[in-house]
Amino acid sequence: MKFATKVIHAGNATDPHTGSLMAPIYMTSTYLQESPGESQGYDYTRANNPNFVILENILSSLENAKYATVFSSGLGALTGLISTLSQGDRILGIDGLYGGTYRLFNSVFSRFGIDFYSIPSPTPEALEKALSQKPKWLFFETPTNPLLEVFDIAALVKIAKKHGVLTVVDNTFASPFFQNPLDLGVDIVWHSTTKYISGHSDVVGGAVMTNDPEVKKGADFARKAIGLNPSPFDCWLITRGVKTLTLRMERHESNAMQVAQYFETHPKVKKVYYPGLPSHHNYEVAKRQMRGFGGMVSVEFDLSLEETKKLISNYKLISLAESLGGVESLVCHPASMTHASIPVKERHKQGISDGLVRFSIGIEDIVDLITDLETTFSVI
Ligand SMILES: *Cc1c(COP(=O)(O)O)cnc(C)c1O
Repeated sequence: MKFATKVIHAGNATDPHTGSLMAPIYMTSTYLQESPGESQGYDYTRANNPNFVILENILSSLENAKYATVFSSGLGALTGLISTLSQGDRILGIDGLYGGTYRLFNSVFSRFGIDFYSIPSPTPEALEKALSQKPKWLFFETPTNPLLEVFDIAALVKIAKKHGVLTVVDNTFASPFFQNPLDLGVDIVWHSTTKYISGHSDVVGGAVMTNDPEVKKGADFARKAIGLNPSPFDCWLITRGVKTLTLRMERHESNAMQVAQYFETHPKVKKVYYPGLPSHHNYEVAKRQMRGFGGMVSVEFDLSLEETKKLISNYKLISLAESLGGVESLVCHPASMTHASIPVKERHKQGISDGLVRFSIGIEDIVDLITDLETTFSVI
């Protein structure tokens, strides 16, 4: 099945009792057992629910994975994954992680003896050296957040495998429409389904996808044992949202490309970060491993911090808000919003300057978006 068919038909579960074409929402905490300990596959919704399974069948299909486990949020999914490690285990990251991911490693799990360390850029030398400290995982995002660096997944996997280290990739930014890390040898993919997968900024969710039955077992156990389960209603919403993923991603991308091109020649712009521009230093890698370049565009304006803040607070259509991947365009200021949880020094070291602005380009008409961007320059 091709992607555009999978988003509609994979995992679809017509209700056998009524013929309801769309699966109902199973708002139940518990399930009738035929005799003590003998359920029909479900016993308590913290452990499992039919709406979880329906969504998992879709998501595993979209990532070409054997298994998926859905969670209450992206960070819930990551918490579940990290909980499968033990005290004394180490995680090697590559800079450019979502701020909340960084915070989870450094402000929570570090206190439980799970050590996170990172390298700024995965050159083969730096990676070999860092891997010799025997981490359990090599952990990264590509494209990164918010600078949209693209890492060569297959090349990183090859080096990690040589050291017997599992690779874990956050595929939220690309979405499974543009990139399938498992096909490139990655062991575990996770998503914030809050973003492109659900696509309407009305629900929070997360998921883990893998071909490894042990990872699936660990994720399911963590969900039940820690209480990281989503609500059946939220899973139903995400199941509904994902059906238009193909159409949305095509439009996100074509709009983002036009916004990036518009900014690239603008006199008030110092630098545009978009992996679909041939001027992007990872353009060739992106073209090779992705089927498109996504809907995120970051920009460094040639403006003072105050002017930048004024500009992005005055757009008419583009809302000043955290998050991304919804049908509506959003703008954010990473240094004071999404990445405020990263200490200033570390943030600057990672190239997240105070003048950097991140756009999540929505699926509105491109003429209206460019008009909003252009006319708002008049406020400064
Ligand atoms: C939002 C986001 C997360 C966290 O997901 P939540 O659903 O907010 O918990 C993780 N990674 C990336 C890239 C994100 O954008």
